[in-house]
Amino acid sequence: QVKDEGRNGYCFYTPDMNSDMSDRIEIEHQLRGALERNELSLNYQPIYCLHNKKLMGVEVLLRWNNGVLGSIPPDKFIPIAEQTGLIIPIGEWIIRQACLQGLAWNKDCGENYRIALNVSPRQFRNGHIVQVLLRVLDETGFDPSLLVIEITEGLLIRNDKNTAQTLSRIKAMGITLSMDDFGTGYSSLSYLKQFPFDIIKIDQSFVRELADDPGDQQLVTAAVAMAKGLGLKVIAEGVETDFQASYLTSAGCDALQGYFLGYPVTAEEFMAKVIPPKEFKALVTI
Ligand code: C2E
Ligand code: MG
Ligand code: MG
Ligand code: MG
Repeated sequence: QVKDEGRNGYCFYTPDMNSDMSDRIEIEHQLRGALERNELSLNYQPIYCLHNKKLMGVEVLLRWNNGVLGSIPPDKFIPIAEQTGLIIPIGEWIIRQACLQGLAWNKDCGENYRIALNVSPRQFRNGHIVQVLLRVLDETGFDPSLLVIEITEGLLIRNDKNTAQTLSRIKAMGITLSMDDFGTGYSSLSYLKQFPFDIIKIDQSFVRELADDPGDQQLVTAAVAMAKGLGLKVIAEGVETDFQASYLTSAGCDALQGYFLGYPVTAEEFMAKVIPPKEFKALVTI
């Protein structure tokens, strides 16, 4: 668990802070050699289009299995990778790996599956991400119009001119921009106005209790209406039940992602189990 600093930079001492600190130091220490030791891998979670009921693409999710610490969830090590700058080499590895995988799948299947990548704020510093994307797309030949970059509000909070410029440059390359975890931040709406997004991903916290919470139902309906008004596509994430899938479909979402439709899996499992058309129509009953 990473402690946030207080407003004025002070950190309050808590009894578990020492163990938190040593956890952190150990994670950082192990993470430094993770790429070289081949401990990082990618999982792929299917995203299904609700218009044609077909596989639309995947979200790429980073996995880390360390010899000492075991398997560590991204929420625990990505913030550390971000703070230490290790996300820079790791991030480039992810982008290259994912593009190569997407290229292979699309060639094998004769399809145009989209590859969605999560990118951290640190990768945006000084426009670094633009250089990486240009380099990887050039090296691999992956079609930029099939690449989606997912960004959370954390990046936009700084709201400087550079961020806007970097997003525009990415967009100008033909890459799609998606706002991840939509609705969880303070000013998702004003960011949609300021930055050139194409997609919003409704956060799983609005999906989880959809069956029992009329407030969440209203929020989802409103978010879809708003997105449509702005010409944006809507993906709902964290879809775990038949009810949620049906509700989100009727509400007008464009695509769904979640355990109900498919777990994040390795490239091999994805190729073996997900790509052979699993009729999605049969799953969602409206
Ligand atoms: P995210 O981008 O919002 O990714 C969605 C998370 O929800 C993933 O967690 C995924 O495994 C999980 N998920 C998918 N379907 C369901 C569902 O039906 N129910 C529930 N409860 N969860 C579901 P994961 O893989 O642990 O990743 C957590 C976060 O870590 C991601 O949130 C993303 O912010 C970050 N992350 C993951 N991979 C990368 C990466 O390659 N680069 C960067 N910068 N961040 C990453
Ligand atoms: Mg994401
Ligand atoms: Mg998300
Ligand atoms: Mg998230």
